[in-house]
Amino acid sequence: MADVYPRLREIRRALDALDLEITNLIARRDEIAAQLIREKGSAPYDPERELEIAREDEVFWLPLLRRVRTAEGARAGAVPTKPGAFPATGFTLVAGPCSIDEHIEETLAGVAELGVTYVRGGAWKPRTFPWSFQGEGIGALRRVRKCADERGLKVVSEVLSEIDAPAAAELVDVVQVGARNCQNFALLKLLATLGKPVLLKRGPACTIEEWLGAAAYLDGRVPVTLCERGIRGFDPCLRNTLDLAGAVLTRRLSGIQTIVDPSHGTGIAGLIPPMVHAARAAGLDGAMVEVHAHPQKSQSDSEQALRMEELAVLVRALRAGAGA
Ligand code: PEP
Ligand code: MN
Repeated sequence: MADVYPRLREIRRALDALDLEITNLIARRDEIAAQLIREKGSAPYDPERELEIAREDEVFWLPLLRRVRTAEGARAGAVPTKPGAFPATGFTLVAGPCSIDEHIEETLAGVAELGVTYVRGGAWKPRTFPWSFQGEGIGALRRVRKCADERGLKVVSEVLSEIDAPAAAELVDVVQVGARNCQNFALLKLLATLGKPVLLKRGPACTIEEWLGAAAYLDGRVPVTLCERGIRGFDPCLRNTLDLAGAVLTRRLSGIQTIVDPSHGTGIAGLIPPMVHAARAAGLDGAMVEVHAHPQKSQSDSEQALRMEELAVLVRALRAGAGA
């Protein structure tokens, strides 16, 4: 029985040698892929951008996408190498109603009183059905801007279409790309030119590779933060399945700032605080949550909105653990 161990060690050594060969082969493949990009013929779209992307591909994106496929490096927490939409250190909380409505001032005042500086609220809402509340558009965003300026708050808000993007970008501090637009490449290309940081939500059926591919459209042009907001699961108890593991993996492999949205990620107000704490414990960079001064009066997602007292408890708990 005892001599089984030397044999096992020998097999492990053989595996280690193979791993080394594989690693060398992958590095060689990266080199050739980089060469391919360098030697590619005339660019069809924007020559300058092509060059820029090719350079980034060599040093960042190609190795990153390879790491995503193999999950190599999942044991280490990558230090963010790029600026994101939120402060580089600590855990940022973003809070506000699902949509901007007539209670917006009251809701944002409540959030501000708790010392939360990043607020949210949608002016254009991506609704499943056309008869549901669609948001009040640019006028609503102006109202939020005014309210935020009076209180020194920063505004995160979603832009649904290319048509509204330029005007909206002037009114917000962070442009949110919603889950349904994660792979709206025309919108991403436009936002890459507008100069505002982007919060890029993961599509409900996007793989990590696809999510990062979408981020690559913005990367190098504007600061990008990723937001895991739940992927489509099979259990109707949960609106979505908050993929914390996927968010941590993405953050670790890419070094791109990553936050979670447990409001849409679970659809259950009572699950928001534990998921926020979990995200923080897992080394993620922040969380975005929905809160409303009068949840039952909210025009959208009223059932998942935190009450102000619940947000207060969450903020206090985060503070007690420092970094909120
Ligand atoms: C939102 O944050 O308001 C929203 C609609 O979220 P998502 O795009 O993740 O569904
Ligand atoms: Mn919502």
